[in-house]
Amino acid sequence: MPRQQRAIRQACPNTKCQMYGQSAQGNIIRYGFFRLKRSKRRRYRCKTCGQTFCSTTATVYHRIHNSRNIFDEVCILSANGVSKSTIATVKRLSWNTVSRWLERAAQAAKQFSERRLRGFVLQELQLDEIRTFMDRKKRPIWIITVIEVWSRLWPSCVLGRRSCRNIRKLFRDLLGKSAFIDPILITTDGFAPYEWVIRRMFGSACIYGQVIKTRRKNRVVAIDRKLLIGSREQLEDALYKSKDSDTLNTSFVERHNLTIRQGSSYLHRRTTAHARWPHRLQEHLELLRCHYNFIRPHMALQFGTIRRTPAMQAGLTSRPLTFRQIFTSRVPVVFIIWAWNRSVLTNQRKAA
Ligand SMILES: [Zn+2]
Repeated sequence: MPRQQRAIRQACPNTKCQMYGQSAQGNIIRYGFFRLKRSKRRRYRCKTCGQTFCSTTATVYHRIHNSRNIFDEVCILSANGVSKSTIATVKRLSWNTVSRWLERAAQAAKQFSERRLRGFVLQELQLDEIRTFMDRKKRPIWIITVIEVWSRLWPSCVLGRRSCRNIRKLFRDLLGKSAFIDPILITTDGFAPYEWVIRRMFGSACIYGQVIKTRRKNRVVAIDRKLLIGSREQLEDALYKSKDSDTLNTSFVERHNLTIRQGSSYLHRRTTAHARWPHRLQEHLELLRCHYNFIRPHMALQFGTIRRTPAMQAGLTSRPLTFRQIFTSRVPVVFIIWAWNRSVLTNQRKAA
């Protein structure tokens, strides 16, 4: 095929242009090259608005003065629990550069998660909180996490006080992007506001139980399981359908908390590198969540020779993604799950 006829997949990054974000429409032409330190990069021009740009414009890689591979490696190291100062030493970058890159990467990861983490089905949820601190140990802060047990998907998390408002925020976020057909099985620890929020938000459209552990000298001496919403028959039915749980438990979310702690240098035990500002921890959680859901194959999701990521198991992607694919994806995907989800909830409430 002659060179000129090959379709250009670039989209115009100019937000004021009529052709913004639309690829392969014939408005983009090749427009020479510009020099980098050791190589050159292709320049493009949009015929509609007349702006020129390159393949990294409007992505996290724009003007990073380093190769894209190094940027990706910094993100992978960060999502594997390496601290910013260690990354800076190993990669021979300044601490400020690493921090600035990770801030950009977190924003892109958040946008990607918002676009792509939608339309999954909820079957079994487990919720828990991770305690950490800001500044000096005087200011405790909580990460409220939720995991969809069947797919191991980490759909949402909220950073802040351990309060009713934050639990409600988590459920609102979750229900805004997911759907459920059968009543969901929800399990939490014995923290009282969970019951209040779940009763108000789900009514009888769920089966809710608490697992309360009594500890003595740092050891669990008794486990008390309470069924608070739904009947014994409903619970048995839900456990029979569940591929993972035989009884009310919070094991999966507790194991997931360990994964989060290991993936974040801010959350290691007895660390000196704890977060000084909540927004830094929030940013890191967004990057970590994207890495966990879309990039890292999950040990529990091994099927023959294929190991799936949680997003693959939930039917959101067909293969493990890379940070490069996440940072260069610009295709907006809009799902209108919310309205449908609300109608299911209202119908189930009416039926009950
Ligand atoms: Zn344009």
